[in-house]
Amino acid sequence: MAQGIPSVEDLIGNSHVVSIPLRQEFRGLSHRETMIFEGDNGPAEWAAFPEYDDLEAASWLASALEQGFATDLPPIPGHLKDIRINGIIPAVDVSGLPALIKKFQGVNSLKIKVAEPGQTTIDDLGRISTVRELVGPDVAIRLDANGAWEVAEAENNLFMFRAFDIDYVEQPVKTLDNMAKLKRRLQGTGIRVAADESLRKGGDIHDIIDHDSADLIILKVNPLGGITNCLEIARKARNANISTVVSSGLETSVGIAHAVHLQALLAGLVGNEEDAGLGTLTLFQGDVVTQSLTHSDGAIPVTPPVLDPRKLKKYRADDERKVWWHDRLRRVYDRLGDVS
Ligand SMILES: [Mg+2]
Repeated sequence: MAQGIPSVEDLIGNSHVVSIPLRQEFRGLSHRETMIFEGDNGPAEWAAFPEYDDLEAASWLASALEQGFATDLPPIPGHLKDIRINGIIPAVDVSGLPALIKKFQGVNSLKIKVAEPGQTTIDDLGRISTVRELVGPDVAIRLDANGAWEVAEAENNLFMFRAFDIDYVEQPVKTLDNMAKLKRRLQGTGIRVAADESLRKGGDIHDIIDHDSADLIILKVNPLGGITNCLEIARKARNANISTVVSSGLETSVGIAHAVHLQALLAGLVGNEEDAGLGTLTLFQGDVVTQSLTHSDGAIPVTPPVLDPRKLKKYRADDERKVWWHDRLRRVYDRLGDVS
């Protein structure tokens, strides 16, 4: 836990609740609501999704307070100017793919959403094969199924998709046991298995190691309680030969900056070289800082976030939502001691 954390009323007094329109609906949301604190270290973001319960939201808050007030975080190495990221291909129709891929020109990897509710394996196959055709052989393809497949289904699909040279599949199935089963069956295919929800909701790094459930883990700094926690998780993972991919939790540039800090430290500590999943600002129509951490040529800049008062005003949430966030903060602040 970070030192020197202000009282909850002081936090509220130096905060902003914003609601930023998204370019397309995500998890049924058209706007991303989040709370920004003006911390001693600079701005900090508490972006726990509104439907999350207080305990889950407390992990996000611990990370925000670390970002705003911790005095013991190592700084970002000065020589580091940018962070390589993967492009993001949502579950769009193939006709939308050329424009999307153009937006991510210069990336070395692309993450494609698969197993979208209401779509079929044929849709996934069409999307993956078209992306491969458009980008050629040198861009790594990552898939994310968000736990939607059963083991046999995942195995069949991935053996089919294998022809398009898949680097890894994120959370193909739900449980740790099924992840382990699938990981064994995929041996020899070159497709790695990545744990995302399994690390944040279904278990922890010890469970993943004990079950031999993953080749790599998705590290989301804010849901996982902050940089210090994530560095500890990454060290344990590395000792078990599990790589890490730093990803966002759909934050503004303020929250992304905390993830950039993690990625920068990981590069030094465990030699992390996997492209980060931090190109998510493309999903936002706006931001709260003077210089957004948007990507160009496959990378986002390492720039400390500076709040832009005009943008904070432009995206200010209405009074009812502001009160809701303040009340939530008062409850969740009291749960910080329960964050593991
Ligand atoms: Mg995921």
